[in-house]
Amino acid sequence: MSKHSKWIALALAVAMLGTAGLIAGCSSSTASTPGTTGTTPAKATVKTVTAGTLVAGSDTAFPPFESMNGNTAEGFDVDVVAAVAKEMGLKSEFKSYKFDTLIPTLIAGGKFDIIASGMTINADRKKQIDFSSPYIDSNQSISVTNASTVKAAADLAGKKIGVQSGTTGQQWAKENIPTAVLVPFDDTLSAFAALQAGKVDAVVNDLPVSAAVVKDATRGLKIVQEIPTGEQYGFGVSKANPDLLKAVDGALAKIKSSGEYDTIYKKWFGVAPSSK
Ligand code: GLN
Repeated sequence: MSKHSKWIALALAVAMLGTAGLIAGCSSSTASTPGTTGTTPAKATVKTVTAGTLVAGSDTAFPPFESMNGNTAEGFDVDVVAAVAKEMGLKSEFKSYKFDTLIPTLIAGGKFDIIASGMTINADRKKQIDFSSPYIDSNQSISVTNASTVKAAADLAGKKIGVQSGTTGQQWAKENIPTAVLVPFDDTLSAFAALQAGKVDAVVNDLPVSAAVVKDATRGLKIVQEIPTGEQYGFGVSKANPDLLKAVDGALAKIKSSGEYDTIYKKWFGVAPSSK
């Protein structure tokens, strides 16, 4: 509860740093105003679950990419999807799912159009679904309590590690700390809550999210190791919907070249994206 309100406070603080332009950009994504920059020809052929809306399936407990502020999802992914949707002449909407149900639910069809959930593009997943071009880089990290003597992965032999079920963090821990006992959680924030409560000795999780979590000093947590896995996040699209994939990629390229992507990045990470 207090954990939740802290996130809301943090999100509000971040939102207050936003420019008037950003605020205008955000609100128009949920209003009925279509993009004023013109729409792509692909628009007419794109099929969405709900006409006129790009619906994203997401595990919305992954700040600063997606988290719930009351009934509203907010975060970097939420803003990027809104900008992409607007570019396609669509509104956008986020629906919450457990992370490890996102791919099967997308494949089954009918619930949402894309996965927007800080999802790493990898070979296993690419066998099942398509991904947009990468929209942000990520790495792994190990977090512990401030009082912990754990300094790195090697100190976690035989210890309990909290991970989110079905993630690349879980996979990394399994492969690299084989003697550890992995404790899977339904969402990332629950894994951190268990760490605070002393139920696990560490959490292995995506670095930008762990950084956002430990930044809240009241949690008493720290990151002791950054693991350069070189991951990249992409939006997941059903292999049955290649037109949508094309349209999403086109819109993503447009918001990158227009500077809108950079504005959203700055809003959530406080700095401009490093050019590469
Ligand atoms: N990037 C990680 C993965 O794709 C974690 C994503 C998440 O927990 N939302 O597995």
